[in-house]
Amino acid sequence: MIIATTVLETAQGEFSVSTHGTEGSPERCLTISQGYLGAAGTVVRLHSSCIFGEALSACDCDCGPQLATAMQEVDKRGSGTIVYLYQEGRGAGLDLKIQGMERQRIKGINSYQAYESLGLPRDMRDYSLAGTALADLGFAKTVTLMSNNPTKRSALERLGYVVESQFALSYTVSQRAYDYLKMKQVEGEHSLDFDKIDFVH
Ligand SMILES: [Zn+2]
Repeated sequence: MIIATTVLETAQGEFSVSTHGTEGSPERCLTISQGYLGAAGTVVRLHSSCIFGEALSACDCDCGPQLATAMQEVDKRGSGTIVYLYQEGRGAGLDLKIQGMERQRIKGINSYQAYESLGLPRDMRDYSLAGTALADLGFAKTVTLMSNNPTKRSALERLGYVVESQFALSYTVSQRAYDYLKMKQVEGEHSLDFDKIDFVH
């Protein structure tokens, strides 16, 4: 159910923002939306929170530019939703994410290897609240997914949505984030279109 909603002016345009949750649970997610959402093929992104990439402009990852570009894409099309999920560190939480980052830094290993060395699964994300949020918004059952992550596609399919198409966002990232994306392509089986991603020198 929708818990709270308002309109937010941003550098990427004006959006309707809402929090969503279920009865008796303190867990929330946020939707950032524009326009009519009931038309087949409307764009959606399931976005995992990353305070370092989004708020601190960290050079390690592409989360900040990816979120901003997704908002620009929704604004350009005039409709769509970003479901913002509080899933720091692929659902492990900020404490374990930082511990993993420290292992990466010291041992020169990648984020998946760091999680393995901490005894964690590679990915702990749960997308059920995204289903609640999309239902709250009356979102179309046939969607266009703004993501290259196969896990997000299958999450949407498990929630009962048909992903009629999927595309990668185009943006610029740091050299380190570019290297991180290259690693994710190998380790996480992301289908990245590197023609669309440029890096800053
Ligand atoms: Zn990030």
